[in-house]
Amino acid sequence: MKASALNVLIVEDDEFQRRITARILESIGVASVHQAGNGKEALDIIRGANARPIDVALCDLNMPEMDGMEFLRHLGEGKHIISVILTSALDGKLLSSVARMATLYGIKLLGTIEKPVQLSNLEVLIAKHDGSTLERGGGDDRRFSLEEILQAVEGDQFEPYFQAKVDLRSGRLVGAEALARWLHPQHGVISPGVFIPPLEETRNIDQLTFRILEKTAAACRTFHEQGHILAISVNLSLASLDDTSLADRITALVRASGIDPQHLVLEITESAAMTNVAPALENLARLCMNGFSLSIDDYGTGASNLQQLTRIAFSELKIDQSFVKDFSENQALMVVVRSSIDMAHKLNVKSVAEGVETRRDCEALKAAGCDTIQGYYISKPLDRQAFSEFMKTYRPDLLLA
Ligand code: C2E
Ligand code: CA
Ligand code: CA
Repeated sequence: MKASALNVLIVEDDEFQRRITARILESIGVASVHQAGNGKEALDIIRGANARPIDVALCDLNMPEMDGMEFLRHLGEGKHIISVILTSALDGKLLSSVARMATLYGIKLLGTIEKPVQLSNLEVLIAKHDGSTLERGGGDDRRFSLEEILQAVEGDQFEPYFQAKVDLRSGRLVGAEALARWLHPQHGVISPGVFIPPLEETRNIDQLTFRILEKTAAACRTFHEQGHILAISVNLSLASLDDTSLADRITALVRASGIDPQHLVLEITESAAMTNVAPALENLARLCMNGFSLSIDDYGTGASNLQQLTRIAFSELKIDQSFVKDFSENQALMVVVRSSIDMAHKLNVKSVAEGVETRRDCEALKAAGCDTIQGYYISKPLDRQAFSEFMKTYRPDLLLA
């Protein structure tokens, strides 16, 4: 969207700052500029601006009556589709923690700027507003009953999508992660956040796991036949590991597809609340013995912790995307990511960073010695056909060229 079509709201208690910012916005040529002295006034303006809704809010943090954090919370809870730019004279660490909070509240954040606001910074961030709708919690809002989901599994409506994994040193494509998608006949492509939790909670996940595994093994074989020798990762639910027959069933299915288990990686997130540790370890040991590689997923989150490292024979550590995203701009995240990479190396396993979205993070990961990356910077998850096309045109030399 052009700046000249935007309605912008400045939320700022300092009148002088407000006036300067308004003048800058006018010089960029926005359609209209509104001003509020605190969060409460801002919400009133937003609620009242029905005819010409506010597109972008510039929001200070420290304000009387209702501060920036509370304003953002209300904004996130409401259904207003407004992009936000955070402005503050406070230090960058605080700004980035509020930025994280805003994202978790479902707000579309264009970026943060330290005050005083400058024309060049503001122009760049305003340009990022493209009128696209808000993505709440990163996904689908639709709800489906367990019944509908089970019928869809029965009706074979799920397919694996493939997201590339790239070796950081050579830039070469070394693998892909298979991510389940529901190809709904009416609603289109639906993300796993909608159907995995209900299936796991009701112990109905196995049927989906096996369908995805079967299709992934078949796709892996096709990729190999096309000359792309990749290792493909599949996510395994912890709930499935209770049943001690699992490892043999997985092994049989994969071998029957004509693929050697050495080309498959199983990603596991161990939960802190895990009760049946013994059968899970029995399954994992057997899978490892049968030639599969094991990967510890979501490393560093509450669900996946140090204890795992001591008892599973794994060959890959996946650093959770919540640490990786924009880590190169945050001192504390840098420390977490770097030490996870170091630990992986000391344990003689590969370090994988997921959720790599920018060149800057990619470069910083390379400098930190990370082995493999996965994320939108390389590619989004693609269906099998699109992924085959992607492999044909992918150029290792362009990764950081
Ligand atoms: P995960 O295993 O952590 O998978 C990575 C998720 O991050 C995927 O979300 C992927 O699309 C997303 N992602 C990858 N790169 C980026 C990036 O650069 N930026 C951002 N913002 N996101 C990125 P997806 O496909 O929605 O899957 C969500 C979760 O659902 C997965 O998290 C995994 O835990 C689960 N899942 C997916 N497929 C299966 C499956 O077949 N079985 C089981 N049990 N779980 C699955
Ligand atoms: Ca995973
Ligand atoms: Ca993850």
